[in-house]
Amino acid sequence: MAKLPVTLEQLTESFGPHLARSTGNRLETGIEPDSVVKTHCCFCGQQCGIQLKVKDNQVIGFEPWEDFPFNRGMLCPKGVKRYLQGAHPDRLVTALKRDPSHPSGFSPMPYAEAIDRVATEIKRIQAVHGRDAFALLSGASLTTEKAYLMGKFARVALKTANIDYNGRLCMVSAGAGNKKAFGIDRAANPWSDMLKTDVVWISGANVAECAPITTNYVWQAREHGAKIIVVDPRITPVARTCDLFLPIKPGRDIALFNGILHLMIENDWLDHDFIQNSTVGFEAVAEHVKQWTPKFTAKVTGIAEKSIRQAAEWWGTAKTSFLMHARGIEHHSHGVQNVLGAINIVLASGRIGRENCGYATITGQGNGQGGREHGQKCDQLPGGRDISNPEHRAYIAKVWDVSPDDLPQAGVDAYEIFRKIDKGEIRGLLSLCFNPKVSLPDNAFVTKALEKLEFYVAIDFFLNETAHHADIVLPGSLHEEDEGIVTQIEGRVIKINKVIDPPGEARQDWRIIQDIARQMGAEKGFTFASPQEMLDELRIASKGGVADYSGITYEKVERQHGVFWPCPSDDHPGTPRLFEPGSWNPIAKGTGPFYFPDGKARFVVAGYTPPTEDVDTEYPIILTTGRVISHFLSGSQTRRIGPLVDQYPEPRVEMHPRLAEKLGIANGDLTTVESRRGNCTLKAHVVTTIRPDTVFIPYHWAGRQSANQLTISAQDPISKIPEYKVCAVKVFKARD
Ligand code: SF4
Repeated sequence: MAKLPVTLEQLTESFGPHLARSTGNRLETGIEPDSVVKTHCCFCGQQCGIQLKVKDNQVIGFEPWEDFPFNRGMLCPKGVKRYLQGAHPDRLVTALKRDPSHPSGFSPMPYAEAIDRVATEIKRIQAVHGRDAFALLSGASLTTEKAYLMGKFARVALKTANIDYNGRLCMVSAGAGNKKAFGIDRAANPWSDMLKTDVVWISGANVAECAPITTNYVWQAREHGAKIIVVDPRITPVARTCDLFLPIKPGRDIALFNGILHLMIENDWLDHDFIQNSTVGFEAVAEHVKQWTPKFTAKVTGIAEKSIRQAAEWWGTAKTSFLMHARGIEHHSHGVQNVLGAINIVLASGRIGRENCGYATITGQGNGQGGREHGQKCDQLPGGRDISNPEHRAYIAKVWDVSPDDLPQAGVDAYEIFRKIDKGEIRGLLSLCFNPKVSLPDNAFVTKALEKLEFYVAIDFFLNETAHHADIVLPGSLHEEDEGIVTQIEGRVIKINKVIDPPGEARQDWRIIQDIARQMGAEKGFTFASPQEMLDELRIASKGGVADYSGITYEKVERQHGVFWPCPSDDHPGTPRLFEPGSWNPIAKGTGPFYFPDGKARFVVAGYTPPTEDVDTEYPIILTTGRVISHFLSGSQTRRIGPLVDQYPEPRVEMHPRLAEKLGIANGDLTTVESRRGNCTLKAHVVTTIRPDTVFIPYHWAGRQSANQLTISAQDPISKIPEYKVCAVKVFKARD
């Protein structure tokens, strides 16, 4: 039983989070570094270029990397302080085993012994309960080489169907929607296409806090005369400088997109040639949006009819435009439909595949894009291939030198893995850089499931809250202790460079995975000596797939400051802008620019349905969750960096003064938010920048401060993304 080995207080005292601050060499601005290494930030999907300063195998600071074209030296607060995660007091430097007799709950053990125990337990569980009874959960912050290795390790060494990754909580609705409409899942444009555009439309994206460098692109576009439209339940920082703000009620985005398309049709703000020649399905969508009159749209979305008409006119009459969305429209039980609604207004405008005409999702995690392309998703093989497609299986089986019949079929998504653990169908788990106890909805259920595991091994560099439940912990590598490629927000493949060596017994994650494979007697195919060797195999595995990396090399990436995929041959420069007229792809084969046999994009009817759990008299307020600029995802890293915790020390409940007054709550009052799944008590943050029917809690904290004690595990039926952005709660001043 994977219950906590000792009390949470004891675990926290030993493993943190403790706060790192600048001390010693990190304080001495005049100290001469041993080296200054160009690499990238370890946090969000923008992957800003940065130069890390190294002294005595320790990262002591940074310099801006002004030549890197995406951020040109700019960084957000997380990037500025990221160097403090190295040489951290909480850093795991030995293998650990669960030990309730030890005051910390874990005792060190020799690495080789730990590997042997892991291999033995995997084999035991699979022999008794079947191959699929052991599951893997990995991360979208891993390099693409590691993500590739994890997919191969699951299918070839363990032969389990059950592998998934924490990108399931992030961009999968966008990925699924893009595949349905375009046949490919990637930002369609480089961000430079935003600079000289007439209109920038931002839906459900707190750009300034979650993708800070993108704010600079938005503001440059505004300097060039672009109108900025922001759709959000909160007046986020980027919304405070926009030209038109649409304060949408959470969970109603499809209604707005349908209402906009209705007005585009009514006013003939359409690109008829593009619709006729480059798309299919417009008639059905046009028929569907007839019901979405401005009046009806206003009623459902909570946005004034006048604002809807203004947005439609600016969007409809623009010559160039760039539409971006993020988790605000994707984290829903109808997230894919939301994305398709957004794509419909892009396709109707015809403004895609041309200079200054763009569409993209804003990826969240560091390798949110690359991490979802090469096989660590439950239904996917490298190159964006489909694990249920016989041709795709045959190709990858050949690369891996196994029989296609030996490759498992599709497994289940990350949340379903926990449901299967709860039901006893999955008995063992390996996690790598994933902290589901904090990041998955309905924390109480996830904890209950974790406690049922027969065996759990966690690979990480800090002991996160999920790893508290582990039987064995293996000390993995920090971002700066390994090399490899990552695909950032624009679809640009960049290179992470190794800056320092892992400390103590810690080692690169890919070495740990291969050690387990070897110990299981499954060494064949897991003898890579370097990330370069993994990339060489990945290039072959991706060749001919939609996500074709076969022409991408470390040398080309460094020389070009990144390579946009697809890049199908050594002499190919990469593809910054997708869907250009006359472009070739392996599905359309010259019939058109989109990735379908006829080369045409798809309009898809996006039907509106309310959120799974709408408000009622018992739970009358909407809870929505998201990020703040000072923290990242489950906070496992940023809650350990002193200056970031100083900036934003604890989660607060954001609410409008009108709601606060109605509830008798003042700014700073301890306030309880309760859903059908749990409650949490936090300080109130009374602000005028949120709808009065909605409260907001950031989700970077654990335990009794976790917003995910409240959220619902409802998922989109296609993408399986959880509905983090809407659930029903009651809110009251905390009882003494
Ligand atoms: S967190 Fe994102 S925006 Fe901030 S420095 Fe890192 S990559 Fe850039």
